Amino acid sequence: MIGIMGGTFDPIHFGHLRPALEVCERLSLTQVRFIPCSVPPHRAQPMATARQRLKMVGLALANTPQFFLDDRELRRGDNASYSVDTLRSLLEEFDEPLALMLGADAYLGFNRWKNWREILGMANLVVSCRPGHKIPKLESWAKGRVVESAEELEKYKAGKIMFIEVTQLAISATDIRRQLLDGLSARYLMPIEVADYINKHQLYRNVEEYDETRDYGIANIIDLERHAVLSG
Ligand code: ATP
Ligand code: MG
Repeated sequence: MIGIMGGTFDPIHFGHLRPALEVCERLSLTQVRFIPCSVPPHRAQPMATARQRLKMVGLALANTPQFFLDDRELRRGDNASYSVDTLRSLLEEFDEPLALMLGADAYLGFNRWKNWREILGMANLVVSCRPGHKIPKLESWAKGRVVESAEELEKYKAGKIMFIEVTQLAISATDIRRQLLDGLSARYLMPIEVADYINKHQLYRNVEEYDETRDYGIANIIDLERHAVLSG
């Protein structure tokens, strides 16, 4: 079974990497593919460019043989990334069942994803959650799909959901961007190679250098400014 880890990765951090590794080992996945998404123009845009996000994911994965960078969503060049299309393309390429890896927040919104029923026909879901709070909340669409063990999950190509307790790291890319904008360091929240890359290219540092007409994401910046006003 192949793990699929999608995200904006703006930037990638240990909250993505450590749970992915724990799930990979627990389920004996043959590999985990990290797939940075493209973002529709009407949504908050990433602050780093697609190329920079790819580069950072590549740097983060470099020393972990089970982890692969997969740029198919950015290569597709669409405005939006839909998991349903990505999974279809993965199934064409790989002859193995897929496990779509989600954090608890993503799981709670899953039944609002485009063609989510079709997604459940193509992949199993693996939801990483906080130790002690095993199942965030069993949504009605999830009933009857839950499996309890890796051995049980192995029997299914798709449609099942497994909740896995992982080491909880309360790290978010939003907080990291905010800290960098405040001139603070991102060290120890992500692999050193990524922190060094951010530093070297002065990513997320400067609101002024972002320009609405480029693909950077003014909406995020306005949020950050609003936050700065509120907390200041
Ligand atoms: P942002 O703050 O910009 O939303 P993020 O840190 O949430 O960024 P995403 O790229 O949105 O990162 O997340 C990709 C996937 O990683 C999602 O499934 C999300 O649930 C999961 N994830 C993100 N942060 C963590 C974390 N600290 N622990 C476990 N899962 C996480
Ligand atoms: Mg998020």
